[in-house]
Amino acid sequence: MTIHSVLVANRGEIAVRIIRAAKALGIRTVQIHSAADADMLAVKMADEAINIGSPAPRKSYLNIEAVIAAAKSAGVDAVHPGYGFLSENGDFADAVTAAGMVFMGPSGDAIRLLGDKVAARQAAQKAGVPTVPGSDGRIDDLDAARALTARIGFPVMIKAAAGGGGRGIRIVQTTSELETQFPQASAEAAAAFGDGGLYIEKVITKARHVEVQIFGDGENFVHFFERECSLQRRRQKVWEEAPAFLLPGPIREALCESAVALARSVNYRGAGTVEYLYDEDTQEFYFIEVNTRIQVEHPVTEMITGVDLVQEMFKVAGGAPLSVRQGQIAVNGHAIECRINAEDPARGFMPSPGRINQLVVPTGEGIRFDTMLYEGYTIPPFYDSLLGKLIVWAETRDACLDRLKTALEGLQVVGVPTTIPLHLALAGDESIRRGDYHTRFLETWLETQCAPQGAPKAEVA
Ligand code: ADP
Ligand code: ADP
Ligand code: MG
Repeated sequence: MTIHSVLVANRGEIAVRIIRAAKALGIRTVQIHSAADADMLAVKMADEAINIGSPAPRKSYLNIEAVIAAAKSAGVDAVHPGYGFLSENGDFADAVTAAGMVFMGPSGDAIRLLGDKVAARQAAQKAGVPTVPGSDGRIDDLDAARALTARIGFPVMIKAAAGGGGRGIRIVQTTSELETQFPQASAEAAAAFGDGGLYIEKVITKARHVEVQIFGDGENFVHFFERECSLQRRRQKVWEEAPAFLLPGPIREALCESAVALARSVNYRGAGTVEYLYDEDTQEFYFIEVNTRIQVEHPVTEMITGVDLVQEMFKVAGGAPLSVRQGQIAVNGHAIECRINAEDPARGFMPSPGRINQLVVPTGEGIRFDTMLYEGYTIPPFYDSLLGKLIVWAETRDACLDRLKTALEGLQVVGVPTTIPLHLALAGDESIRRGDYHTRFLETWLETQCAPQGAPKAEVA
């Protein structure tokens, strides 16, 4: 069924992004929003808007019944879940389908399989994809955890099977730490994710986070090459690049092929990402998880491949094949994305909602700003602090860093502290220019370089 109308079941910058793709394809857009989001940009852009409940996510964006009711009343053909919220909820996908609409993502079963990080690990192993050394399945009790660490050694990570967004992960160095942390981790996972299931992985100490963009249309399974997302804080991505710098060609090929093998083995439909850790010392890569949705950092892939991934999601969801074959997908140049958050780097990244008094956006070749902001908008305090993403492209990585610096200098968000000063400092950092960093780099950098002399200054009105 060709899609003529879509319900955007999300908010913020990704809702804006989805509407932009829908408009380009002539698709009618219906935007849901909470009572706190009546002023958001996506509401202004959409053909129709529906208030589905009070500000708390449980009462609105996470309320399956309310979202389905809105979709039915608007009479849409499809529902796009964006990222976060209900995007990786298999029951939501099933509910959309049961109501006679197209869910713009993989099937409920595929989401449940790959969203359970233990089941996904096993699926990866079955498809011949190397995984981080660790437990075979869930670790049910402390005895099993002790036996495993006796075999693989410390440090290890205790991970929640249902975790995500950087939450539900603990590092453990010794058996006595294991004994206190394991029960705590289980209780916390049960409370946070409704599933106390845990598994254990060996810590890869000098890892780079490399991930592959995959896509399936029911017949073809392709990759759009990889992204590197090693600059993280609290295991959340801050800055992303494509392609991964300094990744040897044969490893890139094996990595991308393994992601496609996994996609094919589960008959994957739609856009997805297979995440890996790459150990530079041993030149080994290890699967960590699959995200069964569009990702925050998808624009860097769009910039180097020239393919609009969100438009592809609409085409595939409508039953059409992907508009490109593997052989037609090539890498051109280099792209970097900076996540601009309403957080104050000078105050421990404290969330900083408030009114945007002035907004100046840089323009020019290779510069893109995906955002939810406009002048006069008041950021509500209830949700994620992501305001937008500055994405810069150039022929080479060096030229991209130069252009990024100029673009960041030209980006002015006046009214609330943001992470722009952090990105300016990172764009000028020599280690980052050399490509000499890994997943722990940013946290160490923040402690040693910035905190003593005062963290990078947040801008003031
Ligand atoms: P990406 O690689 O796309 O950045 P993230 O894991 O950072 O993926 O998740 C994207 C968004 O979804 C973030 O806003 C994050 O907070 C949210 N998110 C992801 N998984 C969960 C989860 N299990 N619970 C709550 N929020 C989540
Ligand atoms: P989430 O579902 O929260 O995104 P991931 O399993 O993708 O969790 O891991 C998030 C981040 O945590 C990774 O990008 C990496 O920085 C770190 N990490 C995860 N597993 C390991 C590991 N085994 N060794 C070292 N770092 C890890
Ligand atoms: Mg992850």
